Amino acid sequence: MKMLISVIVPCYNEAQVIVETNRQLVATLAGIEGIDFEIIYVDDGSRDETPDLLRAIQTADNRTRVVRFSRNFGHQLAVSAGLEHAGGDAAIIIDADLQDPPEIIPEMIARWRDGYHVVYGMRTDRAGETAFKLWTAKLFYRLINRLSKVKLPLDVGDFRLIDRRVIDVLLSMPERDRFLRGMVSWIGFRQVAVMYRRVERRAGESKYPLWKMLQFAADGVISFSLTPLRVALWVGFLSIALAFAGIVYALVIRLYTNDWVRGWTSIFTAVLFIGGAQLVTLGIIGEYIGRIYAEVKRRPLYVVEERLGFGNAATTPLRTAGTSGFETAEPGLHH
Ligand code: UDP
Ligand code: MG
Repeated sequence: MKMLISVIVPCYNEAQVIVETNRQLVATLAGIEGIDFEIIYVDDGSRDETPDLLRAIQTADNRTRVVRFSRNFGHQLAVSAGLEHAGGDAAIIIDADLQDPPEIIPEMIARWRDGYHVVYGMRTDRAGETAFKLWTAKLFYRLINRLSKVKLPLDVGDFRLIDRRVIDVLLSMPERDRFLRGMVSWIGFRQVAVMYRRVERRAGESKYPLWKMLQFAADGVISFSLTPLRVALWVGFLSIALAFAGIVYALVIRLYTNDWVRGWTSIFTAVLFIGGAQLVTLGIIGEYIGRIYAEVKRRPLYVVEERLGFGNAATTPLRTAGTSGFETAEPGLHH
């Protein structure tokens, strides 16, 4: 029997590229021997023509499917939804903007057939990215590998093939801070890299402005490391040590000298330092508690407004669709 490959494409305002991306994906996949494929587009609440274009793409080709969110939920959740809807023996996660070249897909599938469970794309160079983005990315991977027991390979994004066994483990991980590349590293199995050149985005602009990148970095660090909490503890210890020295100093001045009113500076400094240390510590703890709060609410990870191309006779049945998403039934009006 032929193996089924599910290709997952998260899309947020990608009207300028999506038709070309689909053309290249179909051409590449159709040229690979011995596989069937499905392409799952997850529209992450686009506000441009992306949904209309995706509808047209889906109508024209029953190997394509569309999951449309009710609003923007973010890249990592779009990919998670794609994985939940994937029926394949393996899934390939690829950006919509052709920065991840479809030409690499045959090589990924070849390595998978060699017996690897995760085949991730490793960037040999990144044309058209600002020096600032490259530098912050490097800093981030250093930081997270330092802080966390899970080791992330450098220069690797979400462009990767993952085997059904890994998909099933991923889907069993219910957390809402979904830092997928970290989760995949955590899962383990046999992992291998294939090299590629990351080119410039074909059209449109990056949907990851600085603040979103920082948020993403914070998710990565906090969901994979307790080190910030420990740093808070060490800052606490340090300020206790300093405070202790300050107390001894103050007593000595008070008992053995005559000009003890001059202690104002030291009191002021100590108050500031300890106040600052406490706020930082509280902030770090608050960051974790906020995430615990979000987790215990147990909300669905995303809300689906529309699904196209699933469950008609021409396609394979859905394995796990919507286990952590939420979908309301359409009112009878349209039927
Ligand atoms: N994306 C998404 N939801 C978002 C932001 C981005 O689904 O909120 C998609 C986007 O359409 C693209 C991929 O995630 O397919 C990567 O985004 P982008 O190319 O903007 O990031 P960059 O390559 O600049 O890091
Ligand atoms: Mg991009």
